[in-house]
Amino acid sequence: MPTAACGINCDVCGLRLLGICSSCGSGTSQEAINKIEAQKRLFGKPCPVLACAQMNHIQFCLRDCQSFPCENFRAGPYPLSEGYLNMQERRRKQKPPDRTPKRDLIKVPPEYWDDLKKKGIEKLCELSLSTPHLPEGILIRFLKDDILVDIQDCCLWRLKPDQREKIDHPLLELVLLVYFLNVSSDLLSREMISVKDLKDAHFFQGPHALKTAPLLERYGKDISGFKQAAENMGGEPIDMADVAYKLSPLPKIPLYYLLWEGDEEFQPHLSILFDRSIESHLSADAIWGLVNLVSIRLLMGGSNV
Ligand code: SF4
Ligand code: SF4
Repeated sequence: MPTAACGINCDVCGLRLLGICSSCGSGTSQEAINKIEAQKRLFGKPCPVLACAQMNHIQFCLRDCQSFPCENFRAGPYPLSEGYLNMQERRRKQKPPDRTPKRDLIKVPPEYWDDLKKKGIEKLCELSLSTPHLPEGILIRFLKDDILVDIQDCCLWRLKPDQREKIDHPLLELVLLVYFLNVSSDLLSREMISVKDLKDAHFFQGPHALKTAPLLERYGKDISGFKQAAENMGGEPIDMADVAYKLSPLPKIPLYYLLWEGDEEFQPHLSILFDRSIESHLSADAIWGLVNLVSIRLLMGGSNV
C-alpha cells in the first residue's frame, strides 16, 4: 500500500507516477526500510516520522499511534500543517456521542440509580466481585481501569493513583448499572458460546448485530496490531484461531475475541464469544452495549475513549 506512515497518500501523487519519488509505505513495510536507507544515503538522515513509525512497528501514525500528533509532526513544517494537527488534537479529545443501534442518544434512566441506592453495598460487592468504596459507593475493575460507581452522586469516576476524573460516558454508565442491578450468584460456566447460542439470540439481528466490520478493517491484516491493542487492555492470549484474547471488561464477564487473518484466498474473520453465564448477569441490550464498549476500545488501540 503506497500510503506513507504519516498519512500522505502516495497513491494519488504524480511524483510517484512519474518515478521521481518512491512511496514511503507504512511503518511496517519493506518500502519504509528502503526509503529510510535512501534518505540516509541522500540526506544523511531519515524522515523522523518514518523512522519512528518503523522503529515502533506503527503502520500509520494517524490511525495506530496513541501519541499522534507527536513532536515529530509538531517540529514541522512538513508534512502536516499546524492547523491540521491542532484540529486532530482537538477532535481526538472529543468522544463520539453514545447512541443506541437506532441512532438515538443513550440516556441513563434515573430510576436505575434509585434502584441501586436501595441495594446493600456489601451484598452487591459480594455478588458482582467488586469492592466497597465508602462512603460513596463501589469500586469495580473495567478492563484495566478502576472505576468508582458513586452511588451518592449518581456518577462514575476513573480512579488514578493520585487523582480521580469524572467519566461522562452514558453507555458505560448504563452497562455498569445494569450489571449491578442484575448480577446473580452464578459463576463462570467455562462453556464458550457464540451470539447464536444466547437465549436472546434473536435480539442480535439487523441494527443490533454485533459490529465486527470496523475491527476487521483495522486488524484483518494486522495481527500484531490486534495483539498490542488487546494486551493494552489487559487481555490474556488464548490458544484459538490465528490469534485470540480473553478480555475481562467486568469481573464476572469475559469476552473472547478470535481473529483469523486474511490472505489472497480468504477474507479475515472475527468471532466474539461469551461465557454461557453472561445472560445471568446482563440483558441482551447490555450485552450489545458491552461488546460495543470493548470493540471501540480495541479499535482505539486499547486506550480509553
Ligand atoms: S513525512 Fe516522512 S513518512 Fe511522510 S511522506 Fe514524507 S518522508 Fe514519507
Ligand atoms: S510517535 Fe509520532 S512519529 Fe512516532 S509513530 Fe507515533 S505519531 Fe508517528
